[in-house]
Amino acid sequence: MSNFLKEFDAIKGFLAHEEGILLYEMAKQYCTKSFAVEIGSYCGKSACYIGQACKENGTYLVTIDHHRGSEEQQFGAEYFDPEEYDYKNNRVDTLPTLTKNIAKYKLNSHIKAIVDNSKSASKKINSEIDFLFIDGSHTFESARNDYESWKNKIRTGGILSIHDIYDSELEGGQAPKEIYEKAMTEGFKLVKRVNSLVALKKIT
Ligand code: MG
Repeated sequence: MSNFLKEFDAIKGFLAHEEGILLYEMAKQYCTKSFAVEIGSYCGKSACYIGQACKENGTYLVTIDHHRGSEEQQFGAEYFDPEEYDYKNNRVDTLPTLTKNIAKYKLNSHIKAIVDNSKSASKKINSEIDFLFIDGSHTFESARNDYESWKNKIRTGGILSIHDIYDSELEGGQAPKEIYEKAMTEGFKLVKRVNSLVALKKIT
């Protein structure tokens, strides 16, 4: 299995293979009853690890992104990528690459891409979810919004995973860490951490 998953490491994205393996393992174990939700699709790297587990479980992943890029990915910014820019409309657009990757890895039946912002999408999804992965914008406002909009939808015994947890400001922004620490005071318990990725289980 790990050999097959290794193929996903070739997908463009800011996720280490070992982190992808943790997402796969958590989704495989916990996304068994309803479905998974991902905030921040980008080009689909993490979605493929989660979607593969969903495929094996007969469940699915809903991956949500406005596809206009984060603050750091805008034209001329630090993580600007000309391959993900729509020069005709002068805007970042990562949806074509996401769609291409979902098809390439034959996950169309198990990954549903939604083009929307997190808050708006959260109002349209009212059922309980098994697994939530927060990997969206890193501003404090966005991270808090992602956590608050979605935390109550996770079923008891389900998983909340958060990417880009950095122990110090020198390593990276502190917004994901802030919501991680808040979750730990609100009924979530750490199951496993790999690099900057944490997986928490909803206990109460
Ligand atoms: Mg990330």
